Amino acid sequence: MVLGSPDANFFSAEQKEYLDGFLRALVPTVKSGGVPAQLDSQPDDIASAPGRRAQIAWLASGKRLSKEEKIKFDSDPLDSWPRIEELSAQGVLPEGEDIFRFKTHGLWNVSPAQAGMMCRLRIPGGVLKAYQAEAIAESADKFGGGYVDVTTRANLQIREIGGRHMADLLTSLHEVGIMPRGSGADNIRNITGNPTCGIDPTELIDVLPLCRQLHHHILHDRNLFGLPRKFNIAFDGGNSIASLEDTNDIGFKAVRVEAGNDVQTGVYFRVALGGITGHGDFARDTGLLLKPEECLPVAVAMVRVYIAHGDRGNRKKARLKYLLDEWGFEKFLAEVEKLLSFSCLRIPLSECRSPREVNKTAHLGVHPQRQAGHHYIGIAIPSGRLTSAQLKGLASLATQLGSGTLRLTVWQNLLVSDIKTENIPEALSLLASLGLSHEPNFIQAGLVACTGSEGCKFGMAPTKSTALAIAEHLKNRLALDTPINIHLTGCVHSCAQHFIGDLGLLAVSVENETYRGGGFHIVVGGGHGKEARMGIPVLRSIPAPQAPGVIENLLRIYLEARLSGESFTAFTARHSDEDIVELFSSAVENKLCVIKEAVQ
Ligand code: SF4
Repeated sequence: MVLGSPDANFFSAEQKEYLDGFLRALVPTVKSGGVPAQLDSQPDDIASAPGRRAQIAWLASGKRLSKEEKIKFDSDPLDSWPRIEELSAQGVLPEGEDIFRFKTHGLWNVSPAQAGMMCRLRIPGGVLKAYQAEAIAESADKFGGGYVDVTTRANLQIREIGGRHMADLLTSLHEVGIMPRGSGADNIRNITGNPTCGIDPTELIDVLPLCRQLHHHILHDRNLFGLPRKFNIAFDGGNSIASLEDTNDIGFKAVRVEAGNDVQTGVYFRVALGGITGHGDFARDTGLLLKPEECLPVAVAMVRVYIAHGDRGNRKKARLKYLLDEWGFEKFLAEVEKLLSFSCLRIPLSECRSPREVNKTAHLGVHPQRQAGHHYIGIAIPSGRLTSAQLKGLASLATQLGSGTLRLTVWQNLLVSDIKTENIPEALSLLASLGLSHEPNFIQAGLVACTGSEGCKFGMAPTKSTALAIAEHLKNRLALDTPINIHLTGCVHSCAQHFIGDLGLLAVSVENETYRGGGFHIVVGGGHGKEARMGIPVLRSIPAPQAPGVIENLLRIYLEARLSGESFTAFTARHSDEDIVELFSSAVENKLCVIKEAVQ
């Protein structure tokens, strides 16, 4: 297409300006320093990239690109490496459009919430080798704040990185096979799976090879970058520790199917689409039944359809859910099948069996593996933060007594696997020497907190320190005998998925006669998987310092009203939304403490 041709008459002056810039970008230019500007060595690939074609189609239909889409249009963030080198040499943090572009390489300027940069890695399935953990810990010491945070996508973040160290940090990670590329901005985030994949006695299939296959496919296909917004994909192999696949844009869930129409007995995957709990939706089953080897091409085709047709103008409507809401599943799946070389089988969900029972404490403590005589140890990581010394210690433990494998969980905890029975006492002793505990604790086991205001500019309240305060407050006050999931999320982006916690806390700004600062709205009764339910709002604008006491009151209400031994999940499941509000809103005497809310 050439500006000035008949096609160009469809464009406004602003659209022509962007298209003009795009066409200019196709002509390689060289900066004074000899670094090719704008382009890498494959301009034809850039021009034909699906994301770029979708942007042009969006403009051609008379619509405006969002601010972030314009940034991507002007210069592909994948080609920002020379700019990262340039700013690193100057010791300068990215500003303006560079902030967005650098996220594609896993680098965030998180100021003013926290000094310096944050780097989010990519660890497919959350499984990493000890040598990688050691290198990450070294990098955190050398270039960052000397600690790492385990994220809710079974991933790691390094924080407090100086501007001078951006390129060196990424280089050190690349050298041990950790590629943060695409962990931020409008890309496919870390591929998650079950942390016990390959070792769980109950699993139907080991999903780690699928996580890794998709991870590497994405890294090597620039057509799968530059989506309308972020995108989450998870695999669940039927393990005792869930992967929360139903909270993802695409969730692959293993099921067993007996021989029948067109199907042989075996393990297959159901496909669910459109999970985004912060917007009130779990992923819904599509009816598709895939062989394991069909998952990758189907995932890629689904992403390609989303790239071509997702919203490029309104960031709030740019997630897959909204395309599905607009089109319906049938139209979306028809577009997907056009990109496949095979037809997808569909059978009713009722013909599939999913025998797994989730064990909410299986990520803490000592548990037998599928491999006889071997165990994994689940370790509590308070608020998901590990010092680099602790991470090195865990890597050393895994090397000495295990198979050199560490497994991160979406509950922000960590497993060391493949410990022989006779080595368990030594492993526990080493853990204790690192200041870490494996003891199942019904609060710690299910306590999840995003970064919050202590390290994220969107955060409305301190989530991690409030989570620690809740754990400390409850420690000697309540005798719980069943697990409780408490999720604290720092803003409406809901990175900690507050709607699926037994208790979910959403940070807000609170202002009343006696308090001004961060606080929380509280929802009760959320769940996932077979217990999927969005939490019911019960309390609003609780000042952060009061949160531990209010959580104690909520749990006391449950303990007093439950049937003998009844879990929190079972208790809330047998109550209506209205009953839950009635029961739990009495946890604070003055329910109307809301004066100002700064969200939504
Ligand atoms: Fe930041 Fe909000 Fe995500 Fe928490 S939920 S990490 S505050 S964006």
